[in-house]
Formats: sequence, C-alpha cells, structure tokens
Amino acid sequence: MGSADTPGTPALVLRGSLITLKRKCGRPGCRCARGELHITPALSYSVGGVTQMVMLHDEALPRVEAALARYHQAQAALERRVQASVATLRAQLAREKAAARRGRR
Ligand SMILES: [Zn+2]
Repeated sequence: MGSADTPGTPALVLRGSLITLKRKCGRPGCRCARGELHITPALSYSVGGVTQMVMLHDEALPRVEAALARYHQAQAALERRVQASVATLRAQLAREKAAARRGRR
C-alpha cells in the first residue's frame, strides 16, 4: 500500500533526470566502508538555476519515470499548441492587413 497513485491525488508530473548516487552510509563495518558503495537512485532537477535532489528507492522508480514522461507529454502538447497559435496569429494578421488595405480604397 502507499506506493501506487493515491485516489484523489493528482497524477505526479516531474521535471528533471534520474541519476544514481554512490555513497557511504557511515555505519562502521558496513560493506560501503570497504569500498562497496551504496547505490541510491535520485531525481535531480533545477529550480531557478539551483539543482535540487530527491533521494528515491527502487520501488519509486516506475512512478517517477511515469511522472517524467507526463511532463514531456504536456510540454510537447503545449509546444504543438504554440505552433498552431503562431499559424492562427499569422492568418489573423494577414486578414486584418488585407481588410485595412480594402478599407483605404
Ligand atoms: Zn553502508
């Protein structure tokens, strides 16, 4: 329980990239003290030019990957809308220019 999307909670949308951290936990006698570092997945993202990080666990990876994909889909959809809007604006301006030219005659 708890790892899947919670009903009533909006689907996660995340920007950034998945990275792998290699670190020592600091416990004496742990395998990492002998050089076998712990591998922890993390989400790296930037806010206002400052890089931030969220440490993850393996079970969270599919959820985070889906949220990153959602961001790219939304971004692509917004970009398609921008391109369509530019085309619409150009057509509007051309019509207005033609109408103004006719009005001057
Ligand atoms: Zn350790």
